[in-house]
Amino acid sequence: MATNTKKLKPVDSTFLIPEGLYILPTAILLFQKTSETVWANPAFEREFGVAHTGRFSNQPSLGLIRERPLALQIFSMLGRHEGFVLDCLDGHRAPVELKVTQYGDASHETYMVLVEDVTGKVELENQLIQKHLELQRAFEEIKDAQNALIQSAKLASLGEMSSGIAHELNQPLQAILGFSQELEHLEKLSPMGREFLGDIISGTKKMAEIIRSLRSFARQSGDDCVETSVRDAVEEARRLMHHSLLQKGIEFEIETADVPCIFANPIQLEQVFVNLFSNARDAIESAHAGHGKICIHYNYTETFVEVCVKDDGCGMSKETQQKIFDPFFTTKEVGQGTGLGLSISYGILKKLHAEIRVDSKVNQGTEFKVRFPLRKANAS
Ligand code: ADP
Repeated sequence: MATNTKKLKPVDSTFLIPEGLYILPTAILLFQKTSETVWANPAFEREFGVAHTGRFSNQPSLGLIRERPLALQIFSMLGRHEGFVLDCLDGHRAPVELKVTQYGDASHETYMVLVEDVTGKVELENQLIQKHLELQRAFEEIKDAQNALIQSAKLASLGEMSSGIAHELNQPLQAILGFSQELEHLEKLSPMGREFLGDIISGTKKMAEIIRSLRSFARQSGDDCVETSVRDAVEEARRLMHHSLLQKGIEFEIETADVPCIFANPIQLEQVFVNLFSNARDAIESAHAGHGKICIHYNYTETFVEVCVKDDGCGMSKETQQKIFDPFFTTKEVGQGTGLGLSISYGILKKLHAEIRVDSKVNQGTEFKVRFPLRKANAS
């Protein structure tokens, strides 16, 4: 800024104020380094209700950034700055933006600060952020609802298809199994023939197992629901798995808690937990050949009961997590997994208006959270 002395008004002998600043409608502060003086123009005093002319040290309310008084920092901050707050006389704190320029010679270094009240802008920004968060939440809810729809559509069509296939395949399969087992009794069988026959029988048994799963999938119904203890279902599933967990050296820890009962079919409920525990077992085995830990933890409120099944197994990538409830999705070796366990569980839980969520990290482990509404909450 040009410093024409004819148009300057002195605050003291060294601090000269350009006359125009007295009538300018913009709020302005001047800081002079040598005299340690600050001056505020009338527009500043009108807008912020504070008379700020005097020594820096007497100006504790001159705005803070990161809790340091403005005067201490102004000499190193030429240019435009956001994030300042001014303490006004009426007690409110005004968010402001500053534009700092310098004028005067080296001996009377003076800094001019244009102060713009940005309360309206900040409020608008906050509203925008709020709206953005609301939109994001709505988007997540729509995505979840869409996924649930896709899942139930898949399950519905799979239910129809699987009962047909299971019925058609079961009879010839039982015949193959029966004839193969008859053949096994033949003494004249060569060692190689006996080996092949063994393979045929074990392969056929696996196929029969898949068909059994498909049939139970197609039969799913939530009609025979009764008051059921979630804790008993968890205990029963653990009892069923006891031998195979023991064999793999897997520790099983269940929180002892009194958990409210839910309305469900106890057998199907056990089936859900058996599926979760056997997946946890397989994940632990694939991560460190067993010797891991499965932990069961309960949460409940007046409206829901939640069972958390946590393992320290191999975990899953994000891509895998997106597919685990799809029928026939499996990452296990051929013959090890049918890919039906979780989709069957999903179908059972859906009928109970329950939710299942997964949180998993590769090489760290997985946690499934199954949340059942209490009867009052799902009285429909
Ligand atoms: P299956 O166990 O026959 O493969 P599921 O439907 O039960 O079928 O599981 C589908 C897939 O989900 C598994 O193959 C595995 O990749 C993944 N999965 C399920 N539970 C876990 C877990 N606790 N840890 C790691 N992966 C898991």
